[in-house]
Amino acid sequence: MRFYDTHAHLDSGDFSSDLPQVIERARAAGIDRIITIGTDLASSEQAVRLSEQYDDLFAAVGWHPNDASTAPDDVRAVLRPLARHPKVVAIGEIGLDYYRLPGRPPREQLPENQPRIEKQKNLFRQQLELAIELGLNCVVHQRDALEDTLALFGSYANRTRAVFHCYANDQPTLERILALGSLVSYTGILTYKTADNVRQCLTATPDGQFMLETDCPYLSPVPYRGQRCEPAFVRTTAEAAAALRRCSLEHLSAITCATADAFFRRGTPR
Ligand SMILES: [Zn+2]
Repeated sequence: MRFYDTHAHLDSGDFSSDLPQVIERARAAGIDRIITIGTDLASSEQAVRLSEQYDDLFAAVGWHPNDASTAPDDVRAVLRPLARHPKVVAIGEIGLDYYRLPGRPPREQLPENQPRIEKQKNLFRQQLELAIELGLNCVVHQRDALEDTLALFGSYANRTRAVFHCYANDQPTLERILALGSLVSYTGILTYKTADNVRQCLTATPDGQFMLETDCPYLSPVPYRGQRCEPAFVRTTAEAAAALRRCSLEHLSAITCATADAFFRRGTPR
């Protein structure tokens, strides 16, 4: 049986002292593919470097909306050479995040935040265009920006696919995402006591339309909650998901890995 961690931040300082052992533990637990995700230029470069060092490690390159203020006016020029690397299998993570804007909610309505939001949207659009240009799919992050994210992504949805990662919204939203031809991925949040809505979404997602991830070093599943998360723990999340869906772990492993294998590969550039 194999498992696939579709979203890890292995460039994080939390892994700087023991990454070889982290990868070894993942292999021992049956995780045979890990996607390490960039959040700005330096972290995307690091993701690519790491993917060169380990056969089972692949990279996504992208600029996260929380780091939009440090992005160049045209991010395509700096990301394009990296994104052409043979081990880069997606653009991400990209999207919109209004939760981290300054001020109090509704932060997206504060006049001083309008230029910040415009910058995030430009960054998101540019990276969707780059994904289409190179025939790649996208890893999308959104927080407190659901409607704007769906509206903006919607006009690209027939040319690239997205995974709405760390899915934690409701079932009607899930249906809108799937209707766009996109996917969701679930983290260790599935195992948290208060996450009934996420468990309900998991059981409502058809086979072939979801993947699993750790989002490590964050979001360790129970019983590791509170510790640093690492790719090996995606197996614990898979066990929880199989129990919730009342299927065998073998089936869960087969469908989530097949979905990820098909999603994370280079397609036809446009
Ligand atoms: Zn992430």
